[in-house]
Amino acid sequence: MRRLTTTIAAAGAVLAIAGAGSMIRAQQPASRASSAAPAGQADLILSNGKIITVDERFTIAQAVAIRGDRVLAVGTNQEITRLAGPTTRRIDLGGKAVTPGLIDNHMHLLRAGNTWLKELRFDGVESRKQAIEMMRARAKTEGPGGWVFNIGGWAHQQFADDPKPFTRDELDRIAPDNPVALQESYYQVFLNSRALEAFGIKAGAPDPGDFVKGSIKRDAAGKPTGVIMGDIAATRPVAAKLPKVPPDQLEASSLALVKDMNRAGLTTFGVAGCNADVLEIFQKWKAQGHLNVRVFCIGGASAGSPEQVERSLPQIAQMKLYQGDEFIDNVVFGESVYTPLHDPMFALRSDPKPEQLALWRRMAMEIAKAGLPLHVHAELHNTIDGFLDQIDAVNKEYPIKNLRWALAHVNQINAPQIERMKKLGMYAAVHPWAVINGGIMHEGFGDGAFDMPPLATIQNSGINWGFGSDGTAANQTLPFTTLYFAVTGKMPGGMKVIRQTISREDALIAHTRKNAFLVFQEDSLGAIQPGKLADLVVLDRDYLTIPADQIKDIRPVMTMIGGRIAYDNGSFSSTR
Ligand SMILES: [Zn+2]
Repeated sequence: MRRLTTTIAAAGAVLAIAGAGSMIRAQQPASRASSAAPAGQADLILSNGKIITVDERFTIAQAVAIRGDRVLAVGTNQEITRLAGPTTRRIDLGGKAVTPGLIDNHMHLLRAGNTWLKELRFDGVESRKQAIEMMRARAKTEGPGGWVFNIGGWAHQQFADDPKPFTRDELDRIAPDNPVALQESYYQVFLNSRALEAFGIKAGAPDPGDFVKGSIKRDAAGKPTGVIMGDIAATRPVAAKLPKVPPDQLEASSLALVKDMNRAGLTTFGVAGCNADVLEIFQKWKAQGHLNVRVFCIGGASAGSPEQVERSLPQIAQMKLYQGDEFIDNVVFGESVYTPLHDPMFALRSDPKPEQLALWRRMAMEIAKAGLPLHVHAELHNTIDGFLDQIDAVNKEYPIKNLRWALAHVNQINAPQIERMKKLGMYAAVHPWAVINGGIMHEGFGDGAFDMPPLATIQNSGINWGFGSDGTAANQTLPFTTLYFAVTGKMPGGMKVIRQTISREDALIAHTRKNAFLVFQEDSLGAIQPGKLADLVVLDRDYLTIPADQIKDIRPVMTMIGGRIAYDNGSFSSTR
C-alpha cells in the first residue's frame, strides 16, 4: 500500500523556492535512468519557452533541465543554462508553451489495440464533408469488400456543416463496394447495404438471433434502414462482428494507437480492463526501453449474479496491487463491482433494488476489508445514492478514508452527493460523456443535460477530481478537445451542451496533476517539477492565452515521456 500515503516527499521532490532566484532545482537528482552527463549536469535542456509547470503554485517558467528520466530543474533561461555541460543536448522552444504530459484517468486503451489499425476514427473531426472524404479514401485503400468502420468515439452532432445521422443510401453512395459500419458512441450504428448483407439482415426475413431484439430498425415496409440502436447492449454485438486485427498485427495496431495518443499529448492512462494479450506487448516494449505510455490498470473480479459474488469474494481478498513500476502497474479495483448495477450509458434513470445493493455491499465490504482502492462506474442519480448508502455502511466497519475510493463517470452527480463523498474521503473520476454525446443527452434529459456533468459544482466543492475520457468507444480521446469542452461548454463542432464551465487552469490541473493522484502516481507525475518524471508536451500555441474556441485546435509538436521524445512533428532539432 506504499502509494496510498499522501506524502509528496519523495527524495529530491520537495523544493523551497529560494528568495534570491526563481529556479526550482532538485536537491538530489533522483534520476534512475542512466545519464550521460556528469553529476549535477543536465542531459537535455529545453529553453526559451513558456513552461506551464502545473505545480501547486501554477508556476510559469522559461526553461527546464532534464537528467535521465527526470526533471532536474525548472527556472529562467539563465538559471537553467548553468546546468549545461559539454554533453548536454539543447532544444530552443522558440517561445512555445509546454505542459505536463496529459493523463487520462479512465480509458479502455488496451482493448482499442484490437481494432485501432483498422478503425476509421472520427475523433475531433468537425466536418461531415471531411468524414465522407475519409470514408472514400479508406474504401479505396481497403479495396472492394474491405470493411470501412469505426467503433465509437464520435457522434453526428459534431459535424458543424451538416449534423445529421448517416443513412443507408448515403453510405451506399459513398462506398458502394465496401461494407460500412459507423458506431456513434454506444448509441447507434449506421450500416450500408453491404454491411446489412454481411450480417444477414434482410427485408422479409426475421432478425438474426445474435442481435438484441428490437435493435434492428426497419421502415414501414419492413426494409432495414441500416440503423442498429439500443445503447451498449445493442451496439456491442455489432462491434463484435467487425474485423479485429490478426494476431500478428496486434503489436503494429497497438503501436499505432500509442503513437496517436502521444500525438494528442497523452502520456499516462488509467486503463479500464488491462487485456492480457495486449498488456504482454506493452510489457515487452517496456523491457526494450521504448514504451511510450504509462499504463495503470483498473481491474478486478466483478460479479454478475449472487453465485458469482460468492466466487469473487476470495479473489478480492487475494488481489495484489502495486507490484509494478512507473510504466505499468495494477492500482485499483474496478470499474464494475456488481454488474447488474452498472448503469447503461443512455439510461435516463436507474432503479437499484435493495437485494442488488446488498450484493454490491458484500463485495464493497470485502474490497474495503482487503484495504483496496476502488474506482467504480456510477453515472445516474439513484445509483450514486445507492452506492453512497452502501459505502456509508462499509465505512462504519472498515474505514475507507485512506483507500482512495472514487466514483467514476458521475455525469448526473449533484451537490449533496459530492458533499457525502467528501465526508467519506472519496474522489471523483469525471468522464464527461457530453463531449461527443451532448446532443444525444439533450434529447434524453432535456435541459437537465446542461448540468451533466456539473463541472463548476464539482470544482467549487473542493473535492479531489480529475478528467478521463472513457474512450475509445463511449467518447473521443483527444485531451485538448476535453479541455475545450470544459472551458467553453461546447462539443466539437461548437454546439453548447453544458452550462457549468471551469477555468482553463482548473481544467488543465484536472487533466494532469489531479489525475496523477487518481492513478496513484502523484509523487512522480502530473507536474513539471524537479524530481518528477520528465513527461511533457510542447504545444503549437499557448493553451492559456489563445481564444477559448481554439483550445481544441491545439496540436502538440513534441511529446516527451521520461525525458525521451515519444513524438515530434519535426519542428525541433536539438544541438549540443
Ligand atoms: Zn464505465
